Amino acid sequence: MDTRNLRGVSCALLTSSERKEYLTEERGTEWDGETGNNYLVLSLQEKNVLLKGPQRTCDSPGFAYRKVVSAVKEQMDSLWHTTNIYRHPKLYEYVEKLAAKFPGDLKVVYLVNSGTEANDLAVLLARLYTGNSEILSLQGSYHGYSSGLMGLTSTQSYRAPLLAPSGFHHVPLPDPFRGAWGGCRDSPAQAPGACSCPGDCVATDNYIHQLKQLLEHSVPVRGVAALFAESIQGVGGTLQFTKGYLKKAQELVKSYGGVYVADEVQTGFGRTGDHFWGFEGHGVTPDIVTLAKGIGNGFPLAAVVTTRDVAAAHARAAYFNTFGGNPLASAAGKAVLEVIEEEKLQENCKVVGKYFIEKLKDLQARHSVIGDVRGKGLMLGVELVTPGSKEPLDNSKVLDILEATKDMGVLVGRGGKKNNVSIPESEALYLRTKYSTLLEPVVNALQFIAL
Ligand code: PMP
Repeated sequence: MDTRNLRGVSCALLTSSERKEYLTEERGTEWDGETGNNYLVLSLQEKNVLLKGPQRTCDSPGFAYRKVVSAVKEQMDSLWHTTNIYRHPKLYEYVEKLAAKFPGDLKVVYLVNSGTEANDLAVLLARLYTGNSEILSLQGSYHGYSSGLMGLTSTQSYRAPLLAPSGFHHVPLPDPFRGAWGGCRDSPAQAPGACSCPGDCVATDNYIHQLKQLLEHSVPVRGVAALFAESIQGVGGTLQFTKGYLKKAQELVKSYGGVYVADEVQTGFGRTGDHFWGFEGHGVTPDIVTLAKGIGNGFPLAAVVTTRDVAAAHARAAYFNTFGGNPLASAAGKAVLEVIEEEKLQENCKVVGKYFIEKLKDLQARHSVIGDVRGKGLMLGVELVTPGSKEPLDNSKVLDILEATKDMGVLVGRGGKKNNVSIPESEALYLRTKYSTLLEPVVNALQFIAL
């Protein structure tokens, strides 16, 4: 499949009559996998099909969403570049709109160009603010790729040999699926009654104890500056933590003098459905938040949002970023926020996500190759295992599934320690999360290979 065609891809779940009406002649390309009364149809043409109803809310923003493209084009005609020494009106308009999305004192915005840059800056801010140097992140995390962040990203496969910057520590992962203590999952995907903890989740307390050990014995000399965490680990395999972990971890790290940095690069902008920011689902308010990917609908843009107090500690040092907050990126970012509001994309993530969790869980009940279905909203993952075990499924079989979905016109990513968790290929942008409805072909592809 020519992935260039994905620009403007349209998709919809249609009844058979709608399918005929909308797709056969007009759309050309179709995929005829059947799912109950609905069909999932892909069109590689530019036109939108907007259908209503919980299973049919997938119109076609995806890449190059028109409103975002128009905003960038318009900006291009007036002002293209200034460097961030000069402030332009679009920057103010955008930053004001973005800051309004954050609770409490999180009102200072730095605009940069990638998630890596955002997390790099967040490391600096945390160190300057606390006066401490040590940084914690969870095992299995991915926070960026730079020589500085090689320590923050804990996923081994992304860590270049020989690069092990000092001052980074990896915290045992509170993983309810594979972790030593199991535990209740922080999620609507939790099977009812699966948690037998009488009060607080016992597994969470065990993981918090391990974190405390780390803070006591490995970090003390120079003190902890920050704990970095996503609210659902993305590259880590759409991994949700044990219930209550993030809140307790934040409180503990704070009591040792460190701040909490929420990496919302994947979980932000309503993708988890219930909340605009993933951290809101955990009852925590971070001191620093990092944003990227969907923030610009694919346009290079990223941000760090923090409090005035944290930013004040940085004010002593000059800050410069040639492209950060450039007029085109600001125009794209502002248009993305407008589209999310106007099209109620957060609600869409919630409704469509619920539908997929249900469908995928049905499939799990029938196919033992699916070890776990998890996630929130449209941040979903399907963990593939050797049937009857929790052993990650052989990678060549996982690749077969990805090939099968690709043949159907759908790109699906993978994550997890052994790359055995199929996750919607959502690398570039939030709006593409709508395409997570394309998990349907994943469902079908799984049926092909399942046992
Ligand atoms: N944080 C998270 C959670 C990510 O998933 C990624 C990218 N996969 C990054 C940071 C780095 O973003 P970028 O690739 O834009 O540098």
